[in-house]
Amino acid sequence: MNQHPRHYCGLFGIYGHPNAAELTYYGLYALQHRGQESAGITASDGVDLRTHKGMGLVGQVFDKNILRSLPGHLALGHVRYSTTGSSHIKNAQPLVVDCARGQIAIGHNGNLTNAARLRAELEEQGSIFQTTVDSEIILHLLAQPGNGDRIHTLEAVMRKIQGAYSLVIMGEDEMIGVRDPFGFRPLVLGRMKTNLAEDGVDGFAYVFASETCALDLIQAEYVRDLEPGEIVLINKDGVRSVNPWAGTQQPHSFCVFEYVYFARPDSNIFQKNVAQVRINMGRQLAHEHPVPADLVVPVPDSGTWAALGYAEASGLRYCNAFVRNHYIGRTFIQPSQLIRDFGVRVKLNLIEDMVRGQRVVVLDDSIVRGTTARSRVTTLREAGAKEVHMRVSCPPHQWPCAYGIDFPTRKELMAANNSLESIREFLGADSLGYLSLDGMIQATGLPAKGFCSACYTGQYPSPVDSEHDKLEMEQRRSRYRRSVAELVAEDQQKKLL
Ligand code: AMP
Repeated sequence: MNQHPRHYCGLFGIYGHPNAAELTYYGLYALQHRGQESAGITASDGVDLRTHKGMGLVGQVFDKNILRSLPGHLALGHVRYSTTGSSHIKNAQPLVVDCARGQIAIGHNGNLTNAARLRAELEEQGSIFQTTVDSEIILHLLAQPGNGDRIHTLEAVMRKIQGAYSLVIMGEDEMIGVRDPFGFRPLVLGRMKTNLAEDGVDGFAYVFASETCALDLIQAEYVRDLEPGEIVLINKDGVRSVNPWAGTQQPHSFCVFEYVYFARPDSNIFQKNVAQVRINMGRQLAHEHPVPADLVVPVPDSGTWAALGYAEASGLRYCNAFVRNHYIGRTFIQPSQLIRDFGVRVKLNLIEDMVRGQRVVVLDDSIVRGTTARSRVTTLREAGAKEVHMRVSCPPHQWPCAYGIDFPTRKELMAANNSLESIREFLGADSLGYLSLDGMIQATGLPAKGFCSACYTGQYPSPVDSEHDKLEMEQRRSRYRRSVAELVAEDQQKKLL
């Protein structure tokens, strides 16, 4: 189980509410699926930024007393899984500095693709980094002295950094939400009535969140998605929006994998409900890869909604034969080699009677390395399923993600190195069917040109220096002894294999 790629980051920020830290805590709870390694909140009373962060789940990192020690009417929260930099408390966010431009806290979701080069340049100019995450580069660039106001500085920073970034940035008495010009990662704006008029803006507290499920939990209303390239600044004077990329022909590149796997089904991502998109994917899959069978069995929870759609469209019976244990945390002791089969059953157990003698369509959202799918097929066969047909609600993953999703290298991606037939054989399935690229996009109801589907096609919408390695920052430490020119030359030679 440990070798599975895992989630990345969730962001939440609120301006103008007397219980800002507490609401941020609840917002992070709703976003917990986006990162389970560390959690952090920075709050401000207009004068001082106070931060608490720790390793683990939101509920483990915070308690009532800690939240009480974070007073103020604005707060920024972050949950993290490492996509850049190793898992360590020093890399937990928000990252905070106290510099000539004031106190600044930042939370980042995504991945910069020119981070190593920018960091080398900054270090040559004398910057001293405290962490190994790419997000700190943004903080250093923001903190550099200059004449521009926050928005102008931010615009200049956005022209330097490349890749994927949804950001929430906080000063002593202001909060800023940003989406990169491609719009890879989601970020929404919401608002809720606030009782204390002096804290809010026209009687409202404003909220930034990675997903709308965080707005639902705190009963905030959804206002809108931030536009790709948009900077939204909130302070006592109101809500100000600037989009330096408005009117340019910058193509949008929303991450389609948010729909396939990452986002919570009750969220609206890029203005479409995730569960509904997954059901559409399942329906489409049934049209593309029908098979005579008795049951459709999802791999929970990721395959659940697509399996519903498949069952609906095919007229086959939907059956929750796999039962998931929801209480496995990081404290679960991995079984030793000798008893390793327990590991598979700890997460999912099969109700064997339901599948014995049946022709089963088993549905999962994706195959990355193939180990999950193989073990599900084996379990079904051992329970006496007559036939096992594997269906996957997205196309074959063939390329690593450079923009923040933790996929392995091409070497480890099953579909990058094997034909459909050899994957089927490896899984031990009677048949195998992946949703087509067109079918997946059609299921979203959004235009094809608005998506990044680089993990399926290898067409990266923005420049990528080298195959992304989340520990690159650490490894490059030794490279910092070398010049920027050497690094640039080396990057140019590297290709995404
Ligand atoms: P694998 O065993 O490597 O083929 O992993 C596939 C399983 O991991 C599927 O059940 C997916 O739901 C899940 N999955 C796919 N991509 C990711 C990801 N980036 N992070 C976490 N889990 C993932």
